[in-house]
Amino acid sequence: MSTYDVAVIGSGPGGYVAAIRCAQLGMKTAIIEKYSTKGGTCLNVGCIPSKALLDSSHHYEDALKHFEEHGIELTGDVKLNLEKMMERKASVVDQTTKGIDFLMDKNKIDSYQGIGSFEDKTHIKIEGEETTTIEAKHIIIATGSKPASLPFIDIDKERIITSTEALKLKEVPKHMLVIGGGVIGLELGQVYKRLGAEVTVIEYMDRIIPTMDAAQSKELTKVMKKQKVKFAVSHKVTSVENTGDEVVVKATDKKDKEVEFKGDYCLVSVGRRPFTDGLNAEAAGVKMNDRGQIEVDKHLKTSADNIYAIGDVVKGAMLAHKAEEEGVFVAETIAGQKPHIDYNLIPGVVYTWPEVASVGKTEEQLKEDKVEYKSGQFPMRALGRSRASGDTDGFVKILSDKETDEVLGVHMVGARAADLIAEAVTAMEFRASAEDIARMSHAHPTYSEAVKEAALAATEDRPIHT
Ligand code: FAD
Ligand code: NAD
Repeated sequence: MSTYDVAVIGSGPGGYVAAIRCAQLGMKTAIIEKYSTKGGTCLNVGCIPSKALLDSSHHYEDALKHFEEHGIELTGDVKLNLEKMMERKASVVDQTTKGIDFLMDKNKIDSYQGIGSFEDKTHIKIEGEETTTIEAKHIIIATGSKPASLPFIDIDKERIITSTEALKLKEVPKHMLVIGGGVIGLELGQVYKRLGAEVTVIEYMDRIIPTMDAAQSKELTKVMKKQKVKFAVSHKVTSVENTGDEVVVKATDKKDKEVEFKGDYCLVSVGRRPFTDGLNAEAAGVKMNDRGQIEVDKHLKTSADNIYAIGDVVKGAMLAHKAEEEGVFVAETIAGQKPHIDYNLIPGVVYTWPEVASVGKTEEQLKEDKVEYKSGQFPMRALGRSRASGDTDGFVKILSDKETDEVLGVHMVGARAADLIAEAVTAMEFRASAEDIARMSHAHPTYSEAVKEAALAATEDRPIHT
């Protein structure tokens, strides 16, 4: 029987990063993945394919609607070749997942394909083409998540679909109903809107992206409404039915009136659930909580003292970079180091266009925590860079402590906000004040000037360009 210092179950961004860090730290490491390609949700049916389709559909929309204003005239019709777009996406996924195989080999990590299940605290049975058992001193569970649904919805994967099917549709829906105005609903809703579908987002809460700062919800709603996406917020879905060529969604609005929506596809994007099926965690004494997550302490250790769990299968934001941080954290903990993660500084991004990005506390959280704060906001439209590219929607908002001026939260909507947020994370990691950011030179003309201007507005209410 092969024996290891560490065995990692699951090869998503949590698992494969944990395996690499363990190997870097000199531990003999194995990784177990049930599918034939590594990379988990993120690389196969999540971050990477969705961003490929977001980029492709953005190009299509630009060609249809925006080339002309730049003085680019197309002589023929702009035609969508969805099959080719999907092929490109598949090839991006293929290259990226192969990259993980390369990294496993480079770091001398043994890969096993099959479903890993605990026999006891140190033995994992792997059922693939053959069945083997391996032994490991330490085990890291990184089994990720699957799409969640509502109890009364039958996901038939034909008309009533999750993100996994939405990433490989063979036709552009005529009318896509989206249940859940969170990250997946808005990103994939925008993809199909750009490709020509009518899109209606039905959201239970009174605003889309309800966990982000309310100013971001408002701005994104405004921009997406301009793009002709329809929103039904404060609507509680009560039934979803595939009637053949049509899906009928019934919901009650805030006045308790029944409303009916009809479309040809319905994307259910109401969150994801931790995935532990087939893991036989009980055999190792690993406990779950009542949300189905693996219970971990502050060291990400489970109720079994040689077993850790990371990523979507434990509490916290379901984000690839959070899973990666936890992978490194656990590897270093096993190696006897004392790593640290500041969960408040894990940024959140929605890759719509304009992009939405956040780090730290929202204005609503600061109010709830009774923290006295200052707020500085700067509109993207006031930047020369935004006018040059035509990306004038959005803003940067900086919240800082009223007394100390320490930056407590940065929230933005705008072109390349996903990249701009890194400056805010760095500043907050070093506990910068808004004035620190305001006094730093930001290249002109860039979108990042909005960060400086928002910092000036937060510091002394003296932005230069508004
Ligand atoms: P996963 O990536 O889910 O990987 C778990 C792996 O474990 C899977 O490969 C699974 O097959 C394997 N596994 C499970 N059980 C077993 C077993 N018993 N034996 C062997 N293998 C097993 N996050 C971002 O940060 N940015 C984004 O842009 C983004 N976009 C997304 C878009 C979509 C459409 C979706 C669905 C998600 C997106 N996410 C994004 C979320 C991100 O994909 C997850 O947070 C991330 O993949 C979690 O990583 P993980 O390693 O915890 O789990
Ligand atoms: P989400 O939690 O982002 O959004 C779910 C939305 O559905 C929420 O707005 C919620 O209020 C709403 N909802 C819940 N129940 C409902 C109901 N009965 N009727 C109507 N609306 C309802 O979840 P998601 O969009 O499914 O994404 C799942 C996970 O994947 C998220 O945790 C997210 O972090 C991750 N993800 C991240 C990215 C990214 O980082 N860009 C992209 C895609 C997915």
